[in-house]
Amino acid sequence: MSVSQTDFLKKNIADVRTRIHAACLAAGRSPEEVLLCAASKTQDADTVRAAAALDIDLFGENRVQELCQKHKAGAYAAKPLHLIGHLQTNKVKQVVGRAALIESVDSQHLLDCIAAEAEKQGLCQDILIEINIGCEPSKSGIAPQALDALLLHAGTLGSVRVRGLMAIPPAALTPGAARPYFARMRDLFEQTRCRSLPNVQMDYLSMGMSGDFEDAIAEGANIVRVGTAIFGARKPPAK
Ligand SMILES: *Cc1c(COP(=O)(O)O)cnc(C)c1O
Repeated sequence: MSVSQTDFLKKNIADVRTRIHAACLAAGRSPEEVLLCAASKTQDADTVRAAAALDIDLFGENRVQELCQKHKAGAYAAKPLHLIGHLQTNKVKQVVGRAALIESVDSQHLLDCIAAEAEKQGLCQDILIEINIGCEPSKSGIAPQALDALLLHAGTLGSVRVRGLMAIPPAALTPGAARPYFARMRDLFEQTRCRSLPNVQMDYLSMGMSGDFEDAIAEGANIVRVGTAIFGARKPPAK
């Protein structure tokens, strides 16, 4: 990484922190409550390594192959690593134990596979349940009305712990358009938090990206996943 590339990241992260700070103050929240997840898909190991030395709390990766490559290269340094993209069951083995949190659990079958692998490795895997809050057919995540059944099922499994919820609302066509979805997520999160369910500890509400994290913070997000506002525009994915 050149000095100017590192400076670019440093300035972007400082700007994002300023925005987080302002959004927290506006919402009457403490900025320390909100974790900044650097969404590092398509960024190379050197870029990730440079960001790891700066003021971010954790990394989020979408693809298992990328996550493993950068993890093996030591790019995340001591920062926690979350999986934030869709997980296929045949890749569970590579992620369990490597990701501190799997944010994108979206089926009972996937949950069972994660629990089985965690048991095999002798650990307890923390997960979030991804909610398809806009009920969009093209998106992963479970329907809000399916949450109860999945939480109850999680209670029967020994080696997983549900730590909260994650969502990617429909792409906002106008500023503020995602906010009602964030509000619905907050309701689900609070309702679940009030119940005491086995293996469920509602600590994290992961929502908000570069374009809309202020609205997410206003509605209670405590993990925001920020890509382009930190790293700049992504190159188109390699075919
Ligand atoms: C890419 C990605 C982000 C970050 O998106 P930006 O708009 O670049 O900030 C957040 N969450 C998920 C699941 C992503 O895939």
